[in-house]
Amino acid sequence: MKTLIENAVVLTMADEKITPMNILVSDGRIEALGTEAFKADVVIDGTDTLVMPGLVNAHTHIAMSLLRNYADDLDFWPWLTQRIWPAEAKLDSRKVYWGSMLSIAEMLSKGITAFSDMYFFTEETIKAVEETGIRANLNRGLTSGEDEDMKLENALELYEKHHLKGDGRIKIDLGPHAPYTCEQGLFKKIIAAGRSRDTRIHIHLSESRKEVRDSYEKHGMSPIQYVDSLGLFELPTQAAHCVHIDDEDMKILKSRDVSVVNNPSSNLKLANGFAPVAKMLTMGINVALGTDGPSSNNNQDLFEEMHLAALVNKGYEENPTVLRAYEVLQMATINGARALGIEEKVGTIEVGKKADLIMIDLKAPHLNPRNNLLSSLVYSVSSSDVVLTMVEGKVLYREGEFLTLNIEKVLKNANEEALEMTRND
Ligand SMILES: [Zn+2]
Repeated sequence: MKTLIENAVVLTMADEKITPMNILVSDGRIEALGTEAFKADVVIDGTDTLVMPGLVNAHTHIAMSLLRNYADDLDFWPWLTQRIWPAEAKLDSRKVYWGSMLSIAEMLSKGITAFSDMYFFTEETIKAVEETGIRANLNRGLTSGEDEDMKLENALELYEKHHLKGDGRIKIDLGPHAPYTCEQGLFKKIIAAGRSRDTRIHIHLSESRKEVRDSYEKHGMSPIQYVDSLGLFELPTQAAHCVHIDDEDMKILKSRDVSVVNNPSSNLKLANGFAPVAKMLTMGINVALGTDGPSSNNNQDLFEEMHLAALVNKGYEENPTVLRAYEVLQMATINGARALGIEEKVGTIEVGKKADLIMIDLKAPHLNPRNNLLSSLVYSVSSSDVVLTMVEGKVLYREGEFLTLNIEKVLKNANEEALEMTRND
């Protein structure tokens, strides 16, 4: 089936230009781009809209939507160890499924077409991804302890069963949670397992000052130097946060081609600080954007993250010329695709790539006059301006309507499961 999007202006992200262009989609791929009138079975009128690549949420824990607004205004360690971990101990597969569905609904309505997730009961999130049609890299979080071998076995089983499932939309990564929750022995096992598979590493690194201080005390080096010394970066890696890093750390990230995922809302809300994004980009490090879990954010809104990333870095550097709008848009699209290892497929609108794209309504007052649409997308837009979300040529969300999920059912079940999880608190 061929679908044509016509009369829209298009930001392909192959360059900075925004021009009127028709997009012909066939069998999930972009077949042709141009101003001519292509023939199609279905025509989507894009008058007064802008079409751009779907956003890539490169670091999250989507089922944590059940803990949204549950433990706020707390210090990072009490937040994690006294509130989040005890609540997570009550998780089961049903909860993870409905929490995942809730977040996927939110992401689709806000123009996110792909995400990278670390959590537990991963089979349930995979099920939600398969049913809804969104794209995802998923991993089961790995931590040290008596059951570490069982967890790693589970992660490898997921890889055997689900890697490249859903016409290749689903990829399975390996997810050592962080250097402070994984011992050296577990890292070695994960690296050995990763070497013989087409898989990636997704890890939290240098998120808080305490983590870095503890690492120097325990290993005599920073978390990044430590995992590098173990050989972790031999495998393609995406590292969430990288907030408290020095020049030596950045040199390692660059030379090992590690993708960094910046999560400005989470870092600000948990008061962990500011990642030196401008410096990393100048050094040529691939920096993507993530929301982190909905309990440390508290939503899954990459337009908000783009806005924050731009503003925070300008303020932090005391330089309004850093993180230009286009660079921030790259972080949320093609850089995210690179972090997930799917840049050949998505991240830009180009002939031959998968049709993962979104449509933004330009009629909203805050998007007019249209002096500079590129700037609008970072400084003026709201995620509620998204009117259509397409993944692999299939419309999954259009003007408030979800085409692959029953939103009433998702809301009802997610609320019930959340209540059960937080009840005896
Ligand atoms: Zn995280």
